Amino acid sequence: MADVPAECTIKVMCRFRPLNSSEVTRGDKYIPKFQGEDHVVVGSKPFQFDRVFQPNTTQEQVYNACAQKIVKDVLEGYNGTIFAYGQTSSGKTHTMEGNLHDTDGMGIIPRIVQDIFNYIYSMDENLEFHIKVVSKTNLSVHEDKNRVPYVKGCTERFVCSPEEVMDTIDEGKSNRHVAVTNMNEHSSRSHSIFQINVKQENTATEQKLSGKLYLVDLAGSEKVSKTGAEGAVLDEAKNINKSLSSLGNVISALAEGSGYIPYRDSKMTRILQDSLGGNCRTTIVICASPSAYNESETKSTLMFGQRAKTIKNTVCVNVELTAEQWKKKYEREKEKGKALRNTITWLENELNRWRNGESVPVDEQFDKEKAQAEVLALDNVPNDKPASTPNMPQLRLTDAEKDTCEVELAKLYKQLDDKDDEINQQSQLAEKLKQQMLDQEELLASSRRDHDNLQSELNRLQAENEASKDEVKEVLQALEELAVNYDQKSQEVEDKTKEFEMVSDELNQKSSVLTSIDSELQKLKDMSNHQKKRVSEMMSSLLKDLAEIGIAVGSTEVKLHDGSGLIDEDFTVARLYISKMKSEVKTMVKRSKQLESTQSESNKKMDENDKELAACQLRIQQHEAKIKSLTEYLQNVEQKKRQLEENVDSLNEELVKISAQGTTHTHTATATLYALITHNGIHLVGARFHRAWSRLHAVGGVHKKPPSPWSLVCYF
Ligand code: ADP
Ligand code: MG
Repeated sequence: MADVPAECTIKVMCRFRPLNSSEVTRGDKYIPKFQGEDHVVVGSKPFQFDRVFQPNTTQEQVYNACAQKIVKDVLEGYNGTIFAYGQTSSGKTHTMEGNLHDTDGMGIIPRIVQDIFNYIYSMDENLEFHIKVVSKTNLSVHEDKNRVPYVKGCTERFVCSPEEVMDTIDEGKSNRHVAVTNMNEHSSRSHSIFQINVKQENTATEQKLSGKLYLVDLAGSEKVSKTGAEGAVLDEAKNINKSLSSLGNVISALAEGSGYIPYRDSKMTRILQDSLGGNCRTTIVICASPSAYNESETKSTLMFGQRAKTIKNTVCVNVELTAEQWKKKYEREKEKGKALRNTITWLENELNRWRNGESVPVDEQFDKEKAQAEVLALDNVPNDKPASTPNMPQLRLTDAEKDTCEVELAKLYKQLDDKDDEINQQSQLAEKLKQQMLDQEELLASSRRDHDNLQSELNRLQAENEASKDEVKEVLQALEELAVNYDQKSQEVEDKTKEFEMVSDELNQKSSVLTSIDSELQKLKDMSNHQKKRVSEMMSSLLKDLAEIGIAVGSTEVKLHDGSGLIDEDFTVARLYISKMKSEVKTMVKRSKQLESTQSESNKKMDENDKELAACQLRIQQHEAKIKSLTEYLQNVEQKKRQLEENVDSLNEELVKISAQGTTHTHTATATLYALITHNGIHLVGARFHRAWSRLHAVGGVHKKPPSPWSLVCYF
């Protein structure tokens, strides 16, 4: 088992599918012309590949030619990749997967799986296999701590049987994102990757080998414009085209032997980094349609294959050596070192002889090819065989040389030990660094969180800043307005100042005028004081007069002031007095008017009374004359009365006499009385009646004072 890196080219197989039903219906021309097993001519351009499969090639034939060898390689500890490239519907999936559960129709992947397990079942009992499969569509490639790319979120599991592998593939397929475009219903717009890791350990020898096998079904290589994809599908298509063009770029760079290979341009190229120009045996199956309708795509696919063919990979077995193997390797290296040192000694000897003018015969000269073969033989010697140098020219070493060699050897051992120590230290350091790295990662994560927080804070601040900017804008606008206002105002102020100056000038003039007026006023004040004094004096004299008037009027409230300093009070008092006097004068005038009127009335009345008086006097005189006559008459009457009374008395006497004779004669007397009344008038009647009444009462025994003759008159 060789662990020496070996160069190998990428194998490119070309497969044409048969015309499909729609191409046949359309009557498309069949364009490829096959020449031998490895040539095809398309559009008069010949293309050569490792193999060209015609449309009638069976799945098994394709597998045997493309994949069988790779299975063997992977199980021997090499990495292997098979990927299918071509436009949509060119037969990639048919080639890679085919009909998974049909013996004839199954493609490369199920056959590989089957083969691996068959191989394992037939292997030595001491071999222990660990098989891990990874199936993924829609690649999401990440890098682990050691910058090794890995596919994130893929189905990764250990498997024990081909059935389990098939299940994994089915699972992977169910995740596949398929969008129908106008190419055909099979069109798949994503890459699909299937990975098998085989690790084997020989429990007896502790030999460990590991091999990785990538099986990739790429998305269609046609141009996006031809797919009619839109929106999300178009975006996806662009991405896919990007990874395909990256793949093309990587292959071109590798084909041209360029120093820089753009593996990192796409996920696909990162995953396939080892498969393209790395430690991997790679086979590309380019799939093409034979229809003239797809000629340009077919040609571009064939060109891609042609370029890829020139890429050289360097492969070696991924072997983990056991302690024993490391020891053997060391021994071998030691032998190699010894042989090389011998070569040096030989060369030095020869050189010295040449330098000394000796001519060295050909058979004694150093044979470079022989020496190289010697070293190579050491490399290829099986581990368990001791290294031998049969064709090496025999060197005869002196004892001293042997000693120096021993010393040298001891030195080398020492160096080896030192290196071991160094390795130990380095691995400790590596551990430490790993720990530090973890810490740093943690720190990084927290920093990232901080960064996110800061970012959100920044966003917030930016928003605030925007708002502030708006505010500032507004403020600036306001300020501008203010500035304009300010200008106006300052203009106004200037005008006002001018005005003010004018006004102040005026004011000065006015104030000078005022001072003159003031002095005048002062004079006037003096004068007015003088006047006041005089007025107060006048007032006091007036008040005195008024008081006297008041007293004369009868007011008790009038008081006399001395008039010194209480002018205002005096004035009010004076006013009061005056108003009072006014009202009193008014009332007096009224009264005098009344009196006048009453006087005139009285005069009138007096006149009237005078007249009446005169009349009365006249009447009185008349009355007096009357009275006189009456008195005379009265006297006459008195006389008559007396006579009558005498008559009455005599009559009364007669009456008494008669009454004594009987009361019956009363009525006769009364009748007599009546006759008298009508004859003498009232007065007489009265008197007579009076007398008669008193007599009657006296007769009746009732003694009452009789009414006077005057009252009787009034009485009647
Ligand atoms: P792709 O994966 O490149 O888009 P498919 O593998 O899905 O294309 O192939 C498209 C159609 O053509 C499928 O129906 C498939 O069965 C058919 N097909 C492809 N290659 C062959 C072939 N070599 N022989 C017969 N049928 C094929
Ligand atoms: Mg497909």
